[in-house]
Amino acid sequence: MSAPALPRHRVDLLVVGAGTAGLVGAQVAAATGARVLLVERARFGGDCLWTGCVPSKALLAAAHAAADARAASRYGVHVGDVRVDGPAVLAAVRQAITTIEPVDSPEAVRASGAGTATGDVRFTGRDRAEVDGVPVRFRQALVCTGSAPDLPELPGLADVDPLTTDSLWDLPDLPARLAVLGGGTSGCELAQAFARLGVPVTLVEAADRLLPGEDPAASAVVADALRRDGVDVRTGGAPVRVTGGPQGGTLHLSDGGTAGFTRLLVAVGRTPRTAGLGLDAADVAVDGRGCVVVDDALRTTNPRIWAAGDVTGHPAYTHVAGVHGNTAALNAVLGLRRRIDLSAVPRVTFTRPEVAAVGEPTADPGPDRQVHTQGLDHADRAIAEQATEGFTRLVVDGRHRVRGATVVGPRAGEALAELTLAVSRGLTTAHLTGAVHPYPTYADPQWNAAIADVRARLTGRSAMLAVTALRWVRRVR
Ligand SMILES: Cc1cc2nc3c(=O)[nH]c(=O)nc-3n(C[C@H](O)[C@H](O)[C@H](O)COP(=O)(O)OP(=O)(O)OC[C@H]3O[C@@H](n4cnc5c(N)ncnc54)[C@H](O)[C@@H]3O)c2cc1C
Repeated sequence: MSAPALPRHRVDLLVVGAGTAGLVGAQVAAATGARVLLVERARFGGDCLWTGCVPSKALLAAAHAAADARAASRYGVHVGDVRVDGPAVLAAVRQAITTIEPVDSPEAVRASGAGTATGDVRFTGRDRAEVDGVPVRFRQALVCTGSAPDLPELPGLADVDPLTTDSLWDLPDLPARLAVLGGGTSGCELAQAFARLGVPVTLVEAADRLLPGEDPAASAVVADALRRDGVDVRTGGAPVRVTGGPQGGTLHLSDGGTAGFTRLLVAVGRTPRTAGLGLDAADVAVDGRGCVVVDDALRTTNPRIWAAGDVTGHPAYTHVAGVHGNTAALNAVLGLRRRIDLSAVPRVTFTRPEVAAVGEPTADPGPDRQVHTQGLDHADRAIAEQATEGFTRLVVDGRHRVRGATVVGPRAGEALAELTLAVSRGLTTAHLTGAVHPYPTYADPQWNAAIADVRARLTGRSAMLAVTALRWVRRVR
């Protein structure tokens, strides 16, 4: 392998890793006129493009198309037998990646004014590093090396050649029988996708419910939906060992249950990619989980070095990586102290129905919070489309500001956008009800929840007194 061609001068900003955080950071910094070098050891685009958001959403699109075709008869439309062509589905997934790839390419980055190089970065000091052994000096650096899938310590796991979200997308065809370990967002999305494509799937979650980080009512809706899709959902039993070989095997659970598979997909968590990065030499501290420690301006323990994205342990989403890459890069090259705000980070599980949430938890909120829940069964759009499974739940504080929300239903991720704005800007339910909303949409329940809050306020004692006084004044005038 030839040595990478690197600038001989000290760069203003060395960006390590060309995933979302690094791509955004490098391009934003270059736009200020800074001399930027973005170095990637594998593929420009990172996890979102190659192994994360893009392939998983493309696979779900195929899965939902199959499910919609099977269910079309409920509208009086008959499409006959639905046949899934596994290799063609996976080819369509790869095509989605190919279509987006140019946007994240080295050429696109160079067009923005940043330099690029391919190689493995290792810090060798507080203001220097090597790329595949070739030295490079920097004024500031931005670490955006992301995270990699965890493989738990499980006897026999290595013998069955487990799939992860990294290796899944190289399969030539759909597996004959799949077991998915981990009932978080990725596990639920992929279990539903493969089940809807006709693969028998068992989904194993050690906690007592799927999506343990979400409102329990949302977990229940998703579990019901997956079971209707044919997923064998197992909760509350931790995996204890695996038996079998590369052709397939059995997952053994602590509750005595077993799950057979031809392929086992492990989706139980992620580890920050810091191994071999030389963070010690750069005086950059990591925490107990191996995440790079940053302050609220995304600065590490070395004032020249900043970090953004999954490697920091902040919520592992592309939108977080992008926003934080932008903030860290501008702080680094302009000497700013812009701070991050984690109080209104939206999250979406793209199952059908979707689960979208932002802000404070909607289950068991504090004593000074009101909760308003509206079911989709009263939303005309949902009734018209026979998709009434789901709800919207708003958490409102004593000043009627929206503090948190969970939305479950079709297009919940889109519906959440307005509530994310409300939570992040401290908007009240009166702000929401004061804006005219289009009808009929899947956002109707959140409007109705806001209306319910405003009505409750208007029927409160002080509001009723004010209304009575106004009516009285009106009569005597
Ligand atoms: C199956 C799945 C589905 C997902 N779906 C969604 C979704 O729908 N929406 C969403 O918001 N998020 C989703 N995510 C999460 C999202 O993909 C990540 O949060 C995001 O990609 C993180 O970006 P990043 O820039 O921090 O890291 P990455 O994208 O991982 O980029 C880090 C880059 O650094 C490079 N690198 C590492 N070490 C070095 C080194 N020493 N030298 C040079 N380069 C190095 C790596 O090769 C990599 O390209 C999903 C993730 C998975 C696994």
